[in-house]
Amino acid sequence: MILQEYQCEDDSLFLLVDCDYCGTRFIEDEDGLLWLAETGQEADRYLYPLLSPSEADEDDMFSIDGNEGLICDWCREDLQGTHGALTIRSPEGVLSLGVCSRYAWGQSADGEEPNWELLGDALEILRGRYYHRTDAWRGAYLGPNETEHWVEATGGWHSTMEQSDLSDTIHAIMSGEIVVPFPVAVLIGLTSNVCSVTWAVYVHKENVEALRKLLEEKTPAPAWAQVR
Ligand SMILES: [Zn+2]
Repeated sequence: MILQEYQCEDDSLFLLVDCDYCGTRFIEDEDGLLWLAETGQEADRYLYPLLSPSEADEDDMFSIDGNEGLICDWCREDLQGTHGALTIRSPEGVLSLGVCSRYAWGQSADGEEPNWELLGDALEILRGRYYHRTDAWRGAYLGPNETEHWVEATGGWHSTMEQSDLSDTIHAIMSGEIVVPFPVAVLIGLTSNVCSVTWAVYVHKENVEALRKLLEEKTPAPAWAQVR
């Protein structure tokens, strides 16, 4: 965000700007060079614009809350290094996003052209994400149970180490292998345990029963479900 502009006597212009995430304050000179405001040293960083969600394209980072600021490349790299994901699949196409803290960006979706129009009401899911802390060291990112348009139809924890019938089915839906006639969104969240993630499948309210039925049909019941 540009905080202040300075016009010097020789007409050179300086801007005072800060990184939306780490808050580091920079002075940008007329030539676009960045200096650390605190020490006056040249900064070995770049600043990227945070676009509004409606302007975002693949790889552009945007603020989930719609802040139009700047983010430094150190923070951008950090956020994109370890992150959760939201994928929206509908009959109109697919949109795959990386998400970390209050920022998100487009990710490639197996060669398919991302359909940014799907971001629309799916932003509600991103905005409802929160960190659920279970003790001083442990916790997990979870999504909202319900938003204006979406309901969490099913969800839970999953191992990052192995596949399951359920993860195969969800993957088949999100890759388009199983065609679903309504939009489905899957939110994957990081946990403090690298061996597990949280997952939640969202659909619009009128499709909850249809989605549950589909998952039951496509996913064989685990052996223990047969025991009475
Ligand atoms: Zn930063």
